[in-house]
Amino acid sequence: MRILLVQTILGRREKALYPLGLAYLKAALGDHEVEVLDPNLSPDPDEAVRSTVRRVRPHVIGVSLRNIDTTHVYDKFSYLDSFGDQLRLLRDEAPDALIVAGGAGFSVFPEALMRRFPLIDCGIRFEGEAALPALLEHLDDPGAVPGVFVRDADGRVKLGTPRVPADLSQVLAPDRVAIPMQPYLGQSYTVGIQTKRGCVFDCLYCIYPMLEGSHSVRLHDLDRVVDEVERVMAAGVREFYFVDQVFNYPRDHALAVCEALIRRGLKPTWRAFFTEAQIDDELVSACVRAGCRMFEFSPDGICDESLRALGKPYTFDDIRRAYAVIDRYPEARLKISFMMGAPGERTRDLLKLARFLAEESVRRRYRFFSTVEVMRIYPGTPLHQLALERGVVTPDEDLLEPRFFKNPGMDLVRMPLDLGYKAVLAALRITGQRTKIPF
Ligand code: SF4
Repeated sequence: MRILLVQTILGRREKALYPLGLAYLKAALGDHEVEVLDPNLSPDPDEAVRSTVRRVRPHVIGVSLRNIDTTHVYDKFSYLDSFGDQLRLLRDEAPDALIVAGGAGFSVFPEALMRRFPLIDCGIRFEGEAALPALLEHLDDPGAVPGVFVRDADGRVKLGTPRVPADLSQVLAPDRVAIPMQPYLGQSYTVGIQTKRGCVFDCLYCIYPMLEGSHSVRLHDLDRVVDEVERVMAAGVREFYFVDQVFNYPRDHALAVCEALIRRGLKPTWRAFFTEAQIDDELVSACVRAGCRMFEFSPDGICDESLRALGKPYTFDDIRRAYAVIDRYPEARLKISFMMGAPGERTRDLLKLARFLAEESVRRRYRFFSTVEVMRIYPGTPLHQLALERGVVTPDEDLLEPRFFKNPGMDLVRMPLDLGYKAVLAALRITGQRTKIPF
């Protein structure tokens, strides 16, 4: 069977990230005839899709929708317009092919997206390594495949059979030969490596526990992780990021990964997301010696009350202690993300945040980056429930258009910050950077 796996066209100029999910799928599809296309690498993405479909003549097209939008309140951009255009293009060029949607963005909104885009024949929620090959075996009854969304006889979208999270020892390593990494190396940290799936934490707004397994973590085998790092480096990649939701949970696995990298003598440069809850000298030292150059944290809240409301398992003192450990390593840089307007936050906390960022910027100079966001509301999260209770959104909203949670009563304080943000954003646009607002 001929299969085309294609990334969604972003619809604007952005850093192209290596399609790790498609590389896992490509490996899982074994003997099938599979072509993979990331049209975002082409100067003319539509033409890249058109010519590839004409050449491959696929029986099945898998479209990966990684994100619905930027999630950034100051840089709102939805990828759904180009997703819809791409579906029409695929249908025009391959009228008889089965169009299967998947990817992290799709997995958050499977029903809403299939209702909005009737050209999607069926969809795979969460991991696709088991579901897609099984779907190819059961094209006469896709609803029997765990994790596959289908339309019933009345056109209603439904999940045929719930999925079971994959046993990672059965998941093959991503096929980075069929999908080469070289085209992505023009910008830094575009290639990802996974050491685990899932997250045990329960942050108020977060969709990741839902995407990769709620309150549990599945670990990749240590040797396999280090083998993958070695292969990636042999292909010429010098900088990569560990895509785990939280690299240092469980701490011992993170420590073991670092020690194995050091033993193998690979000397890579990498970055990862960390939790302040599991930071200590032994771990940070091992990470730095294993090549970590950017420690990224998402405390989100600036006071204990908002940290509690956000579901963070630490206090503001713990945050300061964790960053003080990082400070002892001059090679390490720090990136911190905050959320403005979290429940429990008061006016004085926003001023505290502004002061904290200003002090850290001056003190750490080039070793410090931060972003301040507003929480995007995703369906099924505790934040969605809170937003419904407070009337921020109504039950009939499907949330495909981004809605943000703002703490009422903060507008007077937020207004000057908003204006400052917009000025920074305008400056970044002029210089060609569009998605991140560094302090
Ligand atoms: S924000 Fe990070 S730590 Fe919190 S639940 Fe999501 S992935 Fe886990």
